[in-house]
Amino acid sequence: MNLPIRWKVAIGTLLAVTLGLAVAGWVALHSIEQIELARLIESLETRTGLATILLDPLLGKSDRQAPASKLQTMAREVSRQAHARVTVIGPEGRVLADSETPDETLSQLENHSNRPEVIQALVTGRGTDIRLSQTTGKRMFYLAVPIGPPSAPRGIVRLALPMTTIEARVQDLKRALAIAFGVAFAVSVVLSVLLARGLTRPLSDMAAVARKLADGTLGHRIPATSGDEVGVLARTMNQMAEQLESKIREVSEDRAQLLAMLASMVEGIMVLDCRGTVLQVNPALERMFMVWGREARGRAHWEVIRHHDFNELAKRALETRQNQSGEITMALSGRTFRVEASVAGGQRENEACAVLVFHDITALRRLEKVRKDFVANVSHELRTPLTSIKGYVEALLDGAKDDPDQTVRFLDIILKQSDRLNLILEDLLQLSRIESGEVSFKRDPVDLSAVVDRTLALIKPLADKKGHAVTVAIPPDLPPAAGDEEQLVQVLTNLLDNAVKYTPPQGSIHIAGQSAKDSPLSMVELSVTDTGLGIPEADRPRIFERFYRVDKARSRELGGTGLGLSIVKHIVEAHGGQIWVEGNHPVGSRFVVRLPTSKDVPTDVQLNLASPT
Ligand code: ADP
Repeated sequence: MNLPIRWKVAIGTLLAVTLGLAVAGWVALHSIEQIELARLIESLETRTGLATILLDPLLGKSDRQAPASKLQTMAREVSRQAHARVTVIGPEGRVLADSETPDETLSQLENHSNRPEVIQALVTGRGTDIRLSQTTGKRMFYLAVPIGPPSAPRGIVRLALPMTTIEARVQDLKRALAIAFGVAFAVSVVLSVLLARGLTRPLSDMAAVARKLADGTLGHRIPATSGDEVGVLARTMNQMAEQLESKIREVSEDRAQLLAMLASMVEGIMVLDCRGTVLQVNPALERMFMVWGREARGRAHWEVIRHHDFNELAKRALETRQNQSGEITMALSGRTFRVEASVAGGQRENEACAVLVFHDITALRRLEKVRKDFVANVSHELRTPLTSIKGYVEALLDGAKDDPDQTVRFLDIILKQSDRLNLILEDLLQLSRIESGEVSFKRDPVDLSAVVDRTLALIKPLADKKGHAVTVAIPPDLPPAAGDEEQLVQVLTNLLDNAVKYTPPQGSIHIAGQSAKDSPLSMVELSVTDTGLGIPEADRPRIFERFYRVDKARSRELGGTGLGLSIVKHIVEAHGGQIWVEGNHPVGSRFVVRLPTSKDVPTDVQLNLASPT
């Protein structure tokens, strides 16, 4: 039953009171009936005794017996005085007189010798009975005593009272009792409700506070003033609440610290339970695999990261309960992760069973690949001239030296290949110096027309030799770039050298300067446009890589090392700038270098030195 305890106590008390009242009422009524009956018998006995004295002289031997009418008159007189029906019965059972029977019908009354009170009176000297009277038709109480010695009675006097007298009195008493009990019951109801409320109020208060504590409002306390069990309970609950509050505070702080640690970690973290269900992921993991923590939690790990090797690794860790590690590369993003699975103590559902840490090693692997490719490329690039030199030296030793013309031609080739070797080594050294930060870049305001003039002084003769038309358009009000003039001359020299090299004779080369329009910072652009071979779109993103050439043979033939644009890119990025190539319509290429002006020099330019290209 979900009744409030107050009502339970009140109803319980009421039931007990009602039961008590009912039992008391029943006992009282029963006792009253018994007492009334006893009183009736007692008074009837007295009256019967008196009646016996009065009637005794009228009964004698039949010759001395008073006439029936006299007996009848006396019976009536005694009845009037005794307020009871008086019957005089002869020893053989014949009714001699009866106060309630008319004289003429007296003889018609049946023999009373078989009446229980008469039989009993003759045997014990006193007989009683309660029954319906055949004469009066009422329920009567009878008391009979013999007159004369019991062994030879002269007659029997019987007094009878209608039971209605007792019953009416009992009824009156019942009514009075019912009223008294009704009042007692009403008082009990009020008292039990008040008592119940008084007793249960502290419990109700406790229940209300306990509900608030359970809802997480831990600041509430139960007022505990009494020293009884309820007070002790209230104080104990208050202590529990305080402990709970401090424990929850501790746990919350620990959790906040843990979450802060997880959130600030570069490594992705995934926590699994023993079934492989994701319990926790950190923001780094969300970013790595483009998943939402909220959606990932509660799902199986293979639904969150769909990768066969990863799933196998996680499964192994959960099944063998041994730490596992491995590498996975995601097909879509191409990113590589090192995964370390550490087994935690949890054995059941929703307990941390394995913690998986994801290190993004994409950059590392790329650097390794670049390094390997670089070593392979360098070896290849160096081997080509070296093989050539070796071959010609061997040819000379084998006898070609005896032919002066051949000797000169071979030595000339050997010299060219040595120069090429030298060129490659110089470019490599320069790249390595820039990369290692050995080269210090100035941050001076550099007038770009001065850079163009200085570069053209070097390149113009080469351009003229191929019959190229070189034009320059640098607006006089172009803001100066912020940088190192020597390095910027080197950049423009490489770009112009390429333009001259990769443009067939009689081409045109245009150098232009302008302010960058679509940049939030103040930047200037320097572009070199030629009408040369152009660069296929597919090759454009790669031509700034070391040793990347669109046409290897042609580049070599033209004396290129494949490192020029790579050096250019490094220098430009070290200035905080950008470089890119576009196609020139209808033929040729357009290289654009964007540099910060002296007003807006980015502070993080040194970061760009680490670029692997
Ligand atoms: P290289 O020493 O071979 O010229 P670079 O790094 O300077 O090396 O250039 C890389 C490659 O880019 C060249 O081999 C060439 O294929 C291509 N390239 C560079 N500049 C031009 C240009 N202006 N026109 C056409 N192709 C070019």
